[in-house]
Amino acid sequence: MILHKIDRKLYKLFHPVVGEIWMLHRVVEQRSEKPEQRELEVTPTWLENKIREYQNKGYSFVPIEQLPNKGRWVCLTFDDGYRDNYAIAYPLLKKMGIPFAIYVTTGIINNQQEMWWYPKEKLGIGAEELKQLDKDPLCTIGAHTVSHPKLDSLIYDQQYQEIAASKRTLEALLGHEVRHFSFPHGAHNDDTLKICRELGFQTIVQSWGGPIRRGENPCPLPRINQTESR
Ligand SMILES: [Zn+2]
Repeated sequence: MILHKIDRKLYKLFHPVVGEIWMLHRVVEQRSEKPEQRELEVTPTWLENKIREYQNKGYSFVPIEQLPNKGRWVCLTFDDGYRDNYAIAYPLLKKMGIPFAIYVTTGIINNQQEMWWYPKEKLGIGAEELKQLDKDPLCTIGAHTVSHPKLDSLIYDQQYQEIAASKRTLEALLGHEVRHFSFPHGAHNDDTLKICRELGFQTIVQSWGGPIRRGENPCPLPRINQTESR
């Protein structure tokens, strides 16, 4: 146990943190009272302060397709495809010149399907809004399945359908290849990784795992869940 702790300390000493991929969901002016929704929400003021705090510490903000292996950086990502990413987060990030990725659950584009975790609300991003975001070099659009299932609970063919169909839908909408993917709920198994390789994704991210240290080249990439304190 003691040796293990020393090992871990030495490892950290020789492999300092180089990067953090932040996982966010919604950006809203007024956070919900419901705890399960509240934890998916940050305010634009909080986000701006958080970015400035890291900029002041010397971190640069980088896009998901070009994660550096040195320096100190943060990569900003948003899951699910909420309309507020376009309406509230985008103007702020544009003003600050911060790159970001949005992983879209294609079933919620134009609110075709309801998000079960936000029943009866129409929070999905619109197809035209996605196209507009995609034209900005600051924004990378990634896939996040069609219906947001726990992939590790599905058989291979169902997983393939969920992942490939979300990729194809976005590619048809945007007119170019979609090369980035996020597992809904972070859930995945060997089949998921095999399918993602087969479909040619450049990066895949999960929902936990902390920072990335020097010399590490993990797949899937770990992320840090950034939530505003309650
Ligand atoms: Zn999600």
